Amino acid sequence: MNLLKGASIAQKIRDSVAADVEKLKARGVHPYLAFVVPPDDPGAAYYGDAQKRACEKAGIGHGIHVLASPLSQAGLVAAISGLASDPKVTGIIVHSPMPAPLDLVAARDRALPPDMDVEAVLPQSCGLLASGVIRQAPCTASAALELMKASGVPFAGRDAVIVGRSVTVGRSLALLLLADRKGPTVTVCHSATADLAAHTLRADFLVAAIGKPGFITAGMVKPGAVVIDVGTNAVKRPDGTETTVGDVSFDLVAPLCAAITPVPGGVGPVTTACLLRNVVTCARLLFPE
Ligand code: NAP
Repeated sequence: MNLLKGASIAQKIRDSVAADVEKLKARGVHPYLAFVVPPDDPGAAYYGDAQKRACEKAGIGHGIHVLASPLSQAGLVAAISGLASDPKVTGIIVHSPMPAPLDLVAARDRALPPDMDVEAVLPQSCGLLASGVIRQAPCTASAALELMKASGVPFAGRDAVIVGRSVTVGRSLALLLLADRKGPTVTVCHSATADLAAHTLRADFLVAAIGKPGFITAGMVKPGAVVIDVGTNAVKRPDGTETTVGDVSFDLVAPLCAAITPVPGGVGPVTTACLLRNVVTCARLLFPE
């Protein structure tokens, strides 16, 4: 069984990002990611710090913009618009979820320019992906694709089954695979799928993006499959401490697989690297050669 660790794949992407950043800087373009967060949100602050460290290591500028209280829809739109017109900013991420009564999707649609859409979540970005034009894709979907490729198992003629249809993961991964003319045949399952195991047992590539710890068990996996576990679930150990586990029951499933990603240390690090790659793509779109 091949353990598909994310670190080396992430490093290759980061190396290529660093080279691209140098090329951009050589022609006067300095990539800069702005992250919009609500006040008093420890999760957003933690993610912002991690983003900042990753960006700075890659030579990318980074700024965290904390929304002013009291929160308002107009304030959120103004914050995004202000950053979009700041000449140093080349890409923007707005933290999700935003607290009520803010409508994140409406604010993004109104104020975020498509060329600054680092997360590739705007209708324009989703539309391009759906039409098979890959400018950039949501980072986690891209990371899952990178790990599928890293397994070394050819796509052509194989069956890929994705469990989960969120825009940022399952649905976008399906569109990425469909855009590949030699890609696998794709099935997307969700909470209304009848007899889920009948689908997963056909999968040469099984991708779990569900959000339920250990949901995929040995009886659901075809021997010799490549299993990509996107799940990141915080669970309590018997001693009360917290740990992170995936959507796949790793110990039971791993012995059956040709390749499998660990959690943590699989999809996560590659997702961060793909985010940096998207920042570079946005800078290039804004400042074409
Ligand atoms: P999400 O938006 O909650 O989507 C979960 C999907 O799983 C939905 O499509 C849902 O179906 C489906 N599902 C739920 N229960 C199911 C069941 N019993 N049978 C079949 N399908 C079922 O979650 P997400 O944002 O895609 O994230 C999925 C997981 O990936 C989470 O653990 C999240 O933390 C993790 N994640 C990891 C990274 C990373 O970088 N490693 C990044 C993003 C997310 P319906 O559509 O029918 O509700």
